Amino acid sequence: MFCLKTVPAHTWVNAEILLKRLLSNRRLQSTVTSSSTPPPEKTDHGRNRSGAQRASARLQSLGKRGRDRTNSSSAANEISVDFEQSQEAYRSKDSLELLRSLVVFKLCSYDFLVDKNEEIMDLGKKILGQKVFDQLMKMTFYGQFVAGEDHISIKPLIQKNQAFGVGSVLDYSVEEDISQKEEHQKESSSVSAGGKESIGEGYREKNYEAGKQLGDSQREVTGTCTYFYADEAKCDQHMETFMKCIKASGGSSMDGFSAIKMTALGRPQLLLRFSEVLVKWQRFFTFLASQQDGMEALEQRLELTQLQELMIKLGAEGDFHGWFTRKKGESAGRIDILDWNSLIDDRVNTSDLLLAPNVKLDKLEPLLKNFTIEDENQIKRTLERLDALAKCALENGVCLMVDAEQTYFQPAISKLALDSQRIYNREKPVVFNTYQCYLKEAYKNVTMDVELSRREGWCFAAKLVRGAYMYQERERAKEVRYEDPINPNYESTSTMYHRCLHYVLDEIALNRKANVMVASHNEDTIKYTLKSMNELGLLPAENKVFFGQLLGMCDQISFPLGQAGFPVYKYVPYGPVSEVMPYLSRRAQENRGFMKGAQKERELLWKELKRRLVSGELLYRPVY
Ligand SMILES: Cc1cc2nc3c(=O)[nH]c(=O)nc-3n(C[C@H](O)[C@H](O)[C@H](O)COP(=O)(O)OP(=O)(O)OC[C@H]3O[C@@H](n4cnc5c(N)ncnc54)[C@H](O)[C@@H]3O)c2cc1C
Repeated sequence: MFCLKTVPAHTWVNAEILLKRLLSNRRLQSTVTSSSTPPPEKTDHGRNRSGAQRASARLQSLGKRGRDRTNSSSAANEISVDFEQSQEAYRSKDSLELLRSLVVFKLCSYDFLVDKNEEIMDLGKKILGQKVFDQLMKMTFYGQFVAGEDHISIKPLIQKNQAFGVGSVLDYSVEEDISQKEEHQKESSSVSAGGKESIGEGYREKNYEAGKQLGDSQREVTGTCTYFYADEAKCDQHMETFMKCIKASGGSSMDGFSAIKMTALGRPQLLLRFSEVLVKWQRFFTFLASQQDGMEALEQRLELTQLQELMIKLGAEGDFHGWFTRKKGESAGRIDILDWNSLIDDRVNTSDLLLAPNVKLDKLEPLLKNFTIEDENQIKRTLERLDALAKCALENGVCLMVDAEQTYFQPAISKLALDSQRIYNREKPVVFNTYQCYLKEAYKNVTMDVELSRREGWCFAAKLVRGAYMYQERERAKEVRYEDPINPNYESTSTMYHRCLHYVLDEIALNRKANVMVASHNEDTIKYTLKSMNELGLLPAENKVFFGQLLGMCDQISFPLGQAGFPVYKYVPYGPVSEVMPYLSRRAQENRGFMKGAQKERELLWKELKRRLVSGELLYRPVY
């Protein structure tokens, strides 16, 4: 069965059996529109641009580029960037900084140092004392990967990078320095303090079970920080910190970015449960449309009148036909996954009608019944915090980057980010969502959100990453026994990345409304993007395609891109030394694969150091 391939087998096979029991298969078939009678193309307001249309737009664009190549001015538009140019790449660095990079990358290539980094750091602190240890860190890892202690001390670095063509995504990276055990205890007590906790009640998707893993799930990995939910006041404090970060970003550069973590802004337990609701709801649609085997999510349709009959047969009560006919501008008697998802937005009016199969109870049950008033209030507060941050970003001319986190929070994070985009991205991109291409569902998520933006007329804005939580995700899937959400191997992740990127670039070429940040250290991916931009006639100065790398990594990619006029950004973490160390060590661990592959970067660093030595420029100081 089509939708069941990507679903944890034990639960959705059961759901399938349940639905089959509730329905006769023949009748189900009759409720779903036949794939042989596709719905009319809806191009008004951008509704459903077909694959053929996109392909033809790409071909037209390619044809145009082909013709344009015959005249010199457009040929000049085709920018190629040389990533072997060590002198250009390190123009912003003095020789001591180059030496530091070499030492740090070398250290990161030793497995035992990365594996045992926390123990080694503890020992270092004991032997050297905090002050000397901090100084040592500033000369090495901290100095390499972190910009400074606070938003004031990081300004010189931001300005220097800016002068050499590279912008900043400010990322306040302080973590709670508490043990996992403490985390779990605190989360448990906050759960009981929050009133009734419904975890364990009724039927739960394995992926979204909390259990002891939730404590672990907040342990951060790469490029980001760990947040632990203490109470709502703590979330307010995090929001204030992010606000300072946004203001600092606005104050230190034009077109700045600021990164935030949704798990810092609300109770992760709720994000987890909200994620479960969203996923169950989408899967229910997919199940209902399952006769259209092999179709992409966006191509599936349900007939409204037949849906009404179907729901009644399933034992549900209520005016299901009215769900959609009440909504303005609905598509002649048919709905797709986006119409279906929109019911979650109307949850206040329809909460009784949001249903999904409960395998244990052998019947349909309301999805939101386990949310208490306290839960609703906390979700509302989370939304309000995000809203305040988006507003602050807009006022300060900054883009707000919502980072992607673990799969069991991600549907809710993505949904909250998307709701914020609907409000703030009307004229220009203010809020950027993040898509992790190591997920099997990445393409579906990207295409659905692009389609929604087109339909509703706002600016799609995305950061595309491969994903930082692979080991943690796989471990958890194995431990809790659900299907691994990550692509089976590196190649499939790369294919997924390029597929999603291709789709968004096409969208940009079609309407110049969408925006993407290619957040990767992978040279092939960067080259693929440049080649596609050339083919589609997308110019760097249009500021539609951005590039992102982490501070202290891949300068040989960032700086040549910046100097060639592409909008390129470094993720710039900052915070006090002692508090960002856990973040640094986890990032080193998660990035070890990458660090090992930093051979090329080390070679370029050596090359430039040797060049400076031979040419008498060892004391070179960047001028800006
Ligand atoms: C500016 C910036 C912002 C970022 N923000 C986020 C964020 O918000 N959320 C987030 O999760 N990450 C984020 N990251 C980290 C990112 O997801 C990657 O972990 C990191 O960039 C390495 O991927 P790459 O494309 O740079 O390099 P590559 O070395 O080409 O790719 C490594 C990545 O490939 C994937 N991979 C490796 N082996 C396998 C395998 N066997 N099977 C399947 N997949 C595999 C993993 O995702 C791994 O991280 C960010 C990175 C950058 C540069």
